[in-house]
Amino acid sequence: DITPLIAGNWKMNGLQAQMNEFQALGDKLATLENRNALVAICPPATLLAAMSEKGAVSGIATGGQDCHASPNGAHTGDISALMLKDAGAAYVIVGHSERRADHAETDAQVRAKAQAGIAAGLVPIICVGETRAEREAGKADAIVAGQLEGSVPDMASEAEIVIAYEPVWAIGTGLTPTNADIAQMHAGIRRLLVERFGARGQTIRILYGGSLKPANAKEILAVENVNGGLVGGASLLANDFFAIISAA
Ligand code: 13P
Repeated sequence: DITPLIAGNWKMNGLQAQMNEFQALGDKLATLENRNALVAICPPATLLAAMSEKGAVSGIATGGQDCHASPNGAHTGDISALMLKDAGAAYVIVGHSERRADHAETDAQVRAKAQAGIAAGLVPIICVGETRAEREAGKADAIVAGQLEGSVPDMASEAEIVIAYEPVWAIGTGLTPTNADIAQMHAGIRRLLVERFGARGQTIRILYGGSLKPANAKEILAVENVNGGLVGGASLLANDFFAIISAA
């Protein structure tokens, strides 16, 4: 049995004032008798150190939202995995569809970032997912398989990684695939992980992401091979994120 991971991705949201909401989440989690899930939040880098310190008290891990593939150097504006680790992070999201789209990140770059994360002692959360056009063209399975093949480093045979399946058309839209579609995609991802990594592939967490909300969390998190969620909008509100954690 895999302990589920509920990870929040705050994206480019969160000023110091938002730390109140984080505090409220910690307070609510303290009231939970049985926490069935690991909990993490990936805030903007500006809040990472403060959140890591506070999160250590309430059992909330933190993560970065991206990292550079190099440990340091002349890369103005970039952040290395080592820096995230130094600020207290345990995870780093790599290959989010917004970065693949906004910054033209390729599978090879995502793979290099995942490797850098592992080398720095972080668990990379490697994101994959098809666009609406790709799904409508019947290409969703092939697209995701290709992204997995290209973005997941061989180091995953030894190091812990997390996969997040996030259909691009479900992100921030309120739309979600049917449970059957989620089950099918996650089973396909599981199959590919086992093909490549053997028994170890059975233990890799596969998160679902895309309009995960309190109202649909229970049913989606119960789908076979869904080992947690990657939550955007609903992770910004303590009540909503707490409800999703409680549903795991
Ligand atoms: P939403 O939960 O806002 O749809 O975002 C999902 C996501 O992109 C998490 O990484």
